[in-house]
Amino acid sequence: MKTTNRYFDIYPRVAAAGQRTTIVVRPRFSHVGLDPDKTYEARCLPAEYYPADSHGGTPEPVRVKPGDGQLEISHAFQGEQEHLLEIVDPSRSDSTPLLRIRLYSVDGDLYGCLPLKGDLHIHSDHSDGKESPGFVAASCRRIGLDFMALTDHGKYAPSVQAQEAFAGLEHDLLICRGEEIHPPDNPVHMVNFGGSFSVNERIAVDPAAYRSAVRDRAGQFAEIPDAAVRDQLASCCWVFDQIRSGGGLGIFCHPYWHVSWGYTPAAPVTNALFASRPWDAYEVVGGYGRDAVDSNTLQIARYHEERMRGGRLPIVGVSDAHGCENSDLFGWYFTLVFADAPTQEAVIGAIKDCRSVAVEAIPGEAVRVYGPLRLVQYALFLLGEVIPAHDEICQQDGLLMLEFLGGRQEASRELAIRRGRTAAFWSRYAGCRSGAGHTDCGHRLAGDRGSDSGTST
Ligand SMILES: [Zn+2]
Ligand SMILES: [Zn+2]
Repeated sequence: MKTTNRYFDIYPRVAAAGQRTTIVVRPRFSHVGLDPDKTYEARCLPAEYYPADSHGGTPEPVRVKPGDGQLEISHAFQGEQEHLLEIVDPSRSDSTPLLRIRLYSVDGDLYGCLPLKGDLHIHSDHSDGKESPGFVAASCRRIGLDFMALTDHGKYAPSVQAQEAFAGLEHDLLICRGEEIHPPDNPVHMVNFGGSFSVNERIAVDPAAYRSAVRDRAGQFAEIPDAAVRDQLASCCWVFDQIRSGGGLGIFCHPYWHVSWGYTPAAPVTNALFASRPWDAYEVVGGYGRDAVDSNTLQIARYHEERMRGGRLPIVGVSDAHGCENSDLFGWYFTLVFADAPTQEAVIGAIKDCRSVAVEAIPGEAVRVYGPLRLVQYALFLLGEVIPAHDEICQQDGLLMLEFLGGRQEASRELAIRRGRTAAFWSRYAGCRSGAGHTDCGHRLAGDRGSDSGTST
């Protein structure tokens, strides 16, 4: 349900639970002006539970008069939940609300966290994608992303080229480094997101050292009867250790990828990777077109199954797109992270801390969100009510980045002027104070509040 439109500027849309917050409703255009002589009624209806003193009845409306052309409604939003704020003109015989506004209140650990959209797995023409690294990065901004990493097959350099394409330019897209790794004799695909060096290169420079390290590691898995499974698991453990040593996030990619007659990797390897968890995050959705929906369905089922076993399970959603124009997948899947700051370190920290959800936004279909319940619920609200306006800011940025790449130098000046717009947006609409000095969600956020004890298997 979309309840608001461009006629009004309404802020904030996210409040701290239990704290009295003033919601400003300001008409943007002359055709929706408020009558200064009228008294309006405002009523706030919580979506999930009512305060004890209302006995489940409808809360009484409060009377508000416009001042300075706008309405200001002060209310203490109880609990972590969605609310519907209705504004009625009681002088009208028609009791239909003038405005119905969806709002959300969150607990202190989530309040102030920056919702950042990102793609952690995508390809350029340096492997099997279609466009240059810079083009892919700018296109990610154009579709509303705050961070991304190019992760070409076996190659780290393109991700550096994506950064270099905009070196010296002031812009708000966090371009991280990355690569997709599938080592020799190991069918498992792994993504190095944000690591400071190339694990692919490390293998290529000294393959004998890699093989010897894998052999040593395989000795630790004597309980696994199949030697191939032992070797592949050992190879993955080595790769993920390397990724972490470079400060990167190690992602276990698409375990239900159906190639020719079966899944790659084979189930015993996938099972071993879930049992020993050498990775940092699991690709719960991504990379599959409409003809391969089953693979994502299985990955989601696996997520639920693994969570039932207990423990925390950090997740990402990725596009794994191989083209930004006229191609499937680009923008279909992404990760929404609730981070302390718009930095790579904060993004990785939030994902490891289970402060992320995976989003499936296939054109023409309803948006679906996967992850811990409380984050899914908040994300659905943000994706429906707040993020579309964020994406419009990003779109303008992305178009300017593309123009810059296309040779229009003046675009750099326009981008510099726009710098900080998304941060200002989140500050106004969700109380986020990004960057240095923000301490409100620097502590552990309970993405899996209640059900997850923080244990890891
Ligand atoms: Zn892959
Ligand atoms: Zn890929």
